[in-house]
Amino acid sequence: MADFTLDIAKKWLEEYAATLEEQKAYLTDLDSSIGDADHGTNMARGMSAVVEPEALNQGDLGALFKKVGMTLVSKVGGTSGPLYGTFFLRAAKEAGTATELDAAGLAAALRAGLTGVLDRGKAQLEDKTMVDALSPALDVLDAALAAGQDLARAAAQAAVAGREGAEATTPMLAKKGRASYLGERSIGHQDPGATSSQYLLEALAKALA
Ligand code: ADP
Ligand code: MG
Repeated sequence: MADFTLDIAKKWLEEYAATLEEQKAYLTDLDSSIGDADHGTNMARGMSAVVEPEALNQGDLGALFKKVGMTLVSKVGGTSGPLYGTFFLRAAKEAGTATELDAAGLAAALRAGLTGVLDRGKAQLEDKTMVDALSPALDVLDAALAAGQDLARAAAQAAVAGREGAEATTPMLAKKGRASYLGERSIGHQDPGATSSQYLLEALAKALA
């Protein structure tokens, strides 16, 4: 069953690139409060390379996500480049040579991506990172699918959970990355990486709608 096709995957990446372009000043602003003010520009630069026509022109989901991952590693830099890169490289491995995935297959690929972020970054929930958006969102995705919802609705619910997860980082004390150097002063600011992860989930919901 073709719930998630190569075309939808490309739409997802294009939506995400467009959102980052729109929100890059905001993300950089968030990163200026608790980091080094580069998250928005870095992510927008990386995703604009991802959606170059020759980069998108891949024959299967594994090849596409591998290209995305490698491009993000090389173009985004900082801490988040390797982490988002790992997310897509692990999703690529899970997707393999499939040109389409059913809902469970997509959920498994996303879960593999999150596991990669956790392996590489060693963040736990409530460390004030992208994990605080990705993890609750993927839990909601799994639960909605298990309850028999279709993929579009499940992804929409996951996106809401991702936004709530990103918003919930504001009162957290950062325990990972640059923001952790600020200690108590990291409290009271929304995490930029959790926010860009919220956008990733919202872009997926839009592409599937
Ligand atoms: P840098 O901090 O190197 O400038 P970015 O500004 O691009 O990198 O990204 C910062 C974001 O990376 C943070 O907001 C946070 O969400 C995420 N991050 C940092 N460290 C980790 C980690 N160990 N695990 C998961 N995410 C992390
Ligand atoms: Mg930064």
